Amino acid sequence: MKICFTFAKATSNKRMKNFDVIIIGGSYAGLSAAMALGRSLRNVLIIDGGKPSNRQTPHSHNFITHDGKTPKEISDLAKEQVLKYKTVKFQNGVVVKMHKDVDGFKVITENKDDFHAKKLIIASGIKDIIPDIPGFSECWGISILHCPYCHGYEIRNEVTGILSNGDMAFDFSKLVFNLTKNLVLFTNGRSSLNNDQTEKLQKNRINIIEDEIEEVQQANGKIQKMIFKNGKEVSLKALYAKIPFTQNINSDDLGLELTEQGFIKVDMMHKTNIPGVFACGDNVTMMRSVANAIAQGNFAGAVVNRELAEEDF
Ligand SMILES: Cc1cc2nc3c(=O)[nH]c(=O)nc-3n(C[C@H](O)[C@H](O)[C@H](O)COP(=O)(O)OP(=O)(O)OC[C@H]3O[C@@H](n4cnc5c(N)ncnc54)[C@H](O)[C@@H]3O)c2cc1C
Repeated sequence: MKICFTFAKATSNKRMKNFDVIIIGGSYAGLSAAMALGRSLRNVLIIDGGKPSNRQTPHSHNFITHDGKTPKEISDLAKEQVLKYKTVKFQNGVVVKMHKDVDGFKVITENKDDFHAKKLIIASGIKDIIPDIPGFSECWGISILHCPYCHGYEIRNEVTGILSNGDMAFDFSKLVFNLTKNLVLFTNGRSSLNNDQTEKLQKNRINIIEDEIEEVQQANGKIQKMIFKNGKEVSLKALYAKIPFTQNINSDDLGLELTEQGFIKVDMMHKTNIPGVFACGDNVTMMRSVANAIAQGNFAGAVVNRELAEEDF
């Protein structure tokens, strides 16, 4: 009797750890992929570290049906709906290692739990590298913003800065100029704009400030002033900033190819260069939005389901 019980327990544990698909990252992209797969009766494990990149932003915009809700309201509702599908499981945790083996992939979490699946979907987002400027991190997502589509309308016509340089600064200025004419460009050091670009910015009365930034003066995440190393100060209501990022997973684990900009390289079907491994959401695109992450996850989930169906039939 005892032996039978032990055996049953061992097999059920083993079965519990084996899935059709493991999704790394359970935010907008990951949950959306899980919904497509759960509705297709696939056994899915979502492993999520609980740190979506928009977590500090008070309100999320530009996603119809959820415009103005908090990021958490959107993801909580998504999670509730996805976990109604009984074949979808959710595990809090951070994947620290991914391996390929004969019949799929093994992932290991920081708590040393290991799980196996035939397919992997990496929906792990990206990690913003916050500049080492006092006050910047407090304002990130509140008054220092990554995207005019997500937050530009709310700060239209306000005195707004752009922290960027060169071609990116020029492109960004054109885009934001439609939302406010009260624009100032901070290159935080010598400008790398060419003469034409500088002339055009000046023609549109966009002041270019090359002084090095010392500090962002703020209160509760609301920017008040830029303070420069030479003592100069500029008052502002908001600042757009293009900041660098890294991937949240180690792409070397599986030999995943990255693009020049550092995104996971995928084809139109969200397939990476490693067969059986898919990626979607912020980690593959510079078009960074909740709606886009959800659309990508939905598509990736369907592609993975189709691949499983082809293999099983
Ligand atoms: C400050 C800010 C404000 C924004 N505001 C808006 C807005 O108003 N409107 C809008 O449409 N978009 C907005 N965005 C963009 C939007 O947040 C992203 O496009 C969206 O979150 C991408 O979804 P995702 O699922 O790809 O990644 P994320 O939402 O970033 O989620 C990734 C998830 O994967 C988990 N994860 C990462 N690595 C691992 C690992 N190794 N193991 C397990 N889990 C892991 C993370 O913990 C996280 O939960 C904003 C972005 C920022 C940075």
